[in-house]
Amino acid sequence: MHFNSRYPSLNPRLFHHQSPVPLKGAKAGHFNAALADQLQWSASDQAAWVEICSGQKTFTEFEPLAMVYAGHQFGQWAGQLGDGRGLLIAQILDRDHQTIDLHLKGAGLTPYSRMGDGRAVLRSVIREYLAGHALNALGVASSNAVGFTTSTQGVQRETVEMGAMLLRSSDCHIRLGHFEWINQYQPELLAEFTQKCIEWHYPECLDAEQPILAFATQVIQRTAVMIAKWQLVGFAHGVMNTDNLNISGSTLDFGPYGFMERFRPNWINNHSDYNARYTYQQQPSMGHWDLWTWLNNLIPLAKPEQKEQFKQDLAQCLEHFEATFLEHYQLGLSQKMGLPHFHKDSFNCAMAFLHILQSEQLDYTGSFIRLQNQAYTALRDDCLDTRQFDAFLTQYQTIRENQAVDVLDAEMRLANPQYILRNHMAQKAIELAQQDDFSEVERLFQLLSQPYRKQTELEQAEDLVPPPSDVPEVMVSCSS
Ligand code: AMP
Ligand code: MG
Repeated sequence: MHFNSRYPSLNPRLFHHQSPVPLKGAKAGHFNAALADQLQWSASDQAAWVEICSGQKTFTEFEPLAMVYAGHQFGQWAGQLGDGRGLLIAQILDRDHQTIDLHLKGAGLTPYSRMGDGRAVLRSVIREYLAGHALNALGVASSNAVGFTTSTQGVQRETVEMGAMLLRSSDCHIRLGHFEWINQYQPELLAEFTQKCIEWHYPECLDAEQPILAFATQVIQRTAVMIAKWQLVGFAHGVMNTDNLNISGSTLDFGPYGFMERFRPNWINNHSDYNARYTYQQQPSMGHWDLWTWLNNLIPLAKPEQKEQFKQDLAQCLEHFEATFLEHYQLGLSQKMGLPHFHKDSFNCAMAFLHILQSEQLDYTGSFIRLQNQAYTALRDDCLDTRQFDAFLTQYQTIRENQAVDVLDAEMRLANPQYILRNHMAQKAIELAQQDDFSEVERLFQLLSQPYRKQTELEQAEDLVPPPSDVPEVMVSCSS
């Protein structure tokens, strides 16, 4: 590994050094060798992956640490939070010379564990492992994971489950909530911390006339792009608190996430979200809220006499959110539909399609694949309101008339995944893994490596369809 240890150069009040506490009977779960290669792990690092991914082996080049941060959880100020069960164990350069954090989740108690036990269970580790992999392969900026290990140590949740650890990789573990913690508890650190964030994550902003405003705009735009892509692939993060969004706009900390199956805009996969704050359709506005909350923490960076102007400038930065989101969402949606982006009726037509999926409770991913395959009869046969479908199809075919449909169809194939990680797919892999059988984790890992390519030899019929509507949903909640 090529170390680029930079977080420990920050003020020591921002973290706590400590070693991971391994679980009893740690053993191999799954390893992402392609990612380890991308992260320039040597052959000996790769041979030691179980020791590394279970906290038994750490590196002399980096003393592991827990970060402190704060956050707004479900809209409420939650005060100090921090890495309560994960440690940053390395910062390394990948093949593209980008610095990547390695964060070991489930590594034991830290000063920020609050009421928790510092552990993660195999179920949630497998869910995060497969979803990070799936999102990366779908082209959505996200954390990933080099591997995970399981153990023989029981961990109490609603029932006793198997303790496990996940070695997560991300381009950034600095959360919006870092700024909230600093502002609340150590405001004198804010200027230097912000400067480091810009140097490390947005060095191009250093040359701007107003680097802080340029930085804020970049964070806002990248977050907007990320959320637009979530909407397009039907991903619901589940817990978009300010401590779970980072400043690089890559998906992080998605415990109770879900990939939407039947199209329900008000769908929520997180059963701890009692007020339905983070439904699929609310994600853009919740992202906007989080960023607005974050921007308030930048105000102290202005000189007193410039504060009012600076507030207005920050508000203007936030206006980029909606514009960037809509630009990417609308473009992506027309590509998914095989409609020309410039055509004035394309967006309306896409909305009409989504309306059908909603009213007929059709599968989001599968219906776009049917549209792509021009399986119009099959789509129509699943509709109760066939008149609505016929009206849509007429409009759709009219727009596509006299267009370069070959080009549009090629775009469609790149925009519509054949496979997403449905809850029941993850659940089956988890149940087998709990009996020490990782074959289904491996199959899903391979299948989701190339989600846009049909893989007849690997797929199973259940990968393509939602469970019948009368089967109860898999329950997922926060912080398991
Ligand atoms: P999450 O909702 O998973 O993002 O977690 C919110 C906060 O609770 C973070 O500060 C986590 O580090 C902490 N946390 C979650 N689960 C545990 C646990 N089992 N032990 C200690 N801290 C935890
Ligand atoms: Mg979190």
